[in-house]
Order: sequence, then structure tokens, then C-alpha cells
Amino acid sequence: MDEKLSRAIEKRRDDLVALTRDLIRFPTVNPPGEAYTPCAEFIAQRLKKSGFETQLIRGEGTPGDTDRYPRTNIVARFDGRTHGQTVHFNSHIDVVDAGEGWTVDPFEGVVKDGKVYGRGACDMKGGLAASIIAAEAFLEVYPDFAGSIEISGTVDEESGGFGGVAYLASKGFFSKPRVDHVIIPEPLNKDRICLGHRGVWWAEIETKGEIAHGSMPFLGDCAVRHMGAVLDAFEKELFPALDKKQTRMPVVPEGAKRSTMNINSIHGGQTDDYSGLPSPNVPDSCRLTIDRRFLLEEDLAEVKREVTSILDRLQWERPKFHYNIRDIMEVQPLMTERDAPVVTAVAQGIRDVFGKEPEYVISPGTYDQKHIARIGLLHDCIAYGPGILDLAHRPDEYVGIEDMVESAKVMALGLKVLLSGSI
Ligand SMILES: [Zn+2]
Repeated sequence: MDEKLSRAIEKRRDDLVALTRDLIRFPTVNPPGEAYTPCAEFIAQRLKKSGFETQLIRGEGTPGDTDRYPRTNIVARFDGRTHGQTVHFNSHIDVVDAGEGWTVDPFEGVVKDGKVYGRGACDMKGGLAASIIAAEAFLEVYPDFAGSIEISGTVDEESGGFGGVAYLASKGFFSKPRVDHVIIPEPLNKDRICLGHRGVWWAEIETKGEIAHGSMPFLGDCAVRHMGAVLDAFEKELFPALDKKQTRMPVVPEGAKRSTMNINSIHGGQTDDYSGLPSPNVPDSCRLTIDRRFLLEEDLAEVKREVTSILDRLQWERPKFHYNIRDIMEVQPLMTERDAPVVTAVAQGIRDVFGKEPEYVISPGTYDQKHIARIGLLHDCIAYGPGILDLAHRPDEYVGIEDMVESAKVMALGLKVLLSGSI
């Protein structure tokens, strides 16, 4: 363990807590994208004081970007004395709606029993604060370092990241030669390294029917009954088949080591202006949204074919069955290799701080790493940060203060290894 670095972080413990609380007090709720600009400006002011060059970059024209809700990102960079590698810490500043069930004010940053409470405490303002403290401590101990350090606070991760990391990646902010290594301090536990995530296919299936008076259904064609046949086939064939697919990816939790599919919603009949009264008609349309999570071993075209082959067969079996299918979102599964530099460096930090081997995991859901890989074409990227993933998006979300301090040490050590150019 690097004692100087460790002490430099320990003495910033109160600063780390204060910074986390300050960040929680910006209610950066998404949607709609509240308070992005003041939060980004606050981070910029902080990092300017520590010697960083800062830029505010608006995701112009991206989903949700308006003058009322500008998609304001902050990117800060500190260039060392000499040229070398660049390490980038990327955190999203947006949080989900607080929702019900809180016992404390979700935007106050209450400190209690060694924890900071608030919406975004673990996902991921605690991680952002820890990365800032890690960088500041590193700059104090190693002022003559070679290379560059970047810290960004980006928007809209919770809604797909289009105005945030995707936008910046399209402008070259997440590509070589500007950046070499990226650490995303998402809450995946302080002794775990997250290498990537499963793939996603969201789609909407619509069954078509024919409208008629509800008293004479034989004159029409019921789209809801057609959808019932679809669901029945999914239950009997698709779900059992998905359950059998196991991956070599170390996905957590255990249940997510298989292919999964959620039925997100189903809407049938004339309910668009639903008043509580039942529709008097035979429904001519029924829509179903599916969220299919797939594995590295699976091919997206095959994933789609599993669904469409069932729909095509029903077209033969059921007279008048017609369907449409529309893609909503596609994300390829991702896994950074274990011998990648950023993985090796952070693993070394975990060994030094905790005296044990890190656990390597894959997230069941996606996060901004997808844009860094797909748009930035940068693959030396992981998620590593304090906090417990299960607490994200829930009432009384919190982050442990000790967890933040320890993970800041890991980040600072990882930074030291990467900037030393030894791997
Ligand atoms: Zn997050």
C-alpha cells in the first residue's frame, strides 16, 4: 500500500462526505433532466480550484434537450508535466425520481450511522465524489506525474445516455489518442470490478385484428386473443428455452447468468382515452413490449429469430393472425478482458487496499460503457465504484462513508499504476 496516497485520502474524509452531500443537493432528476447545469457548474468550479481545465458541453438536439432542460455535461482535464497515458473517470450526474417510502429527505444529503443518504448517493454521486478525491489526492502526492487525468460528469445515463456519454463519444471525447483508460464509478461494490454487461433487445409486438361490435365478436377478429396465443407460446416454448442458456460471463446476480426476457407492458383494445368504462368493441390491436437480455454467446439476429419464428408459425396456425414487430433498442453485450490494463491496475489497487483478490462481475443491465465501446471504440473500460447496486433507485438509498474512502484509495492506486506506464 502507498502510505502517502492513503494518508492523502484519509485526511480528505470530511471533504469527501461534504462533496457527496453537495452533489446530492442538486435534484438532477431524469426525466426531465432537472438542475443539470448548476450541478455541472458546481463540479467545474471544484475541479478548476484543483487545477483542472474544464468545459461545459451541451448535448445539443439530443432527446430531451431544451432550453428549459439543457443536457449540460462537464469534462475536466489535468495535463501532467510530461506526455503519457490518459485516465478518465466518468460518472453520470442524473438520478431517477425519488419515489415514495423515504424516511429522510432524498435531496438533503443526510449523514447517519456512517452513511450518506439521498437519491443518487450510491448511483452514483458517491462514486463521482470518490473519483474527484482520488484525483486530488494523487495530484498532491505526485505533482510531477506523466500523462493526463480526466473527470467527467455526464447526463442522461438513466435514460440511455444519448445526451451524455453517447454525445461526447460522438465528438471524440472517449477515443484514442485523447483517452486511453476509462473507469466508471458505478455502485458495484468496493471490491468488485465490473467488466461489462449483457446485451439488450427491446421490441414492440403488435397483433392485428378487426373491429366489430362486442356483442357479435364473430364478425370481427380479436387482437387480444391473438396476443394470448403469443403469450401462451412464449410460456411453453420461449421461456423454458431461455432458461437453459448459460453464459461464461460472470454476471451477478446468479439468476442473470441466463438469458432473460421481461414482458414490460401489454395494451389491447380501445383504451387510449381510458375512462374506466370497458370498450364496447372487438379490439383490432394489441401491443406487447418485451425486454430481452442476451449473452455474449448469443447472436442478436438469432435472438430476434427465436421470437419471430414463433410469430410466423402462429401466422400459419391461426387464420387471420397478423403481426408487426418494431425494434425499440439494441445493445450488444460487452466484456472487457481480464488482462486489459485498466482491469490489471484496479485489481492491483483492490489487492493493496483489501488484501484480497477482486471479484470480477458483469452487470445484468447496461450502462454508459456501451457508448464508449461502440462509438468511442475504446475497450479499456470498466465500472468500479463504492456502493451496493441493490440500493440504487430504491427509497433510503445510501452510500457508506468508509466504502467511499476505501474505493477512493483503490481509484488513486489504479491511477498511479496506469499513469506509471508500467502496464
Ligand atoms: Zn448509475
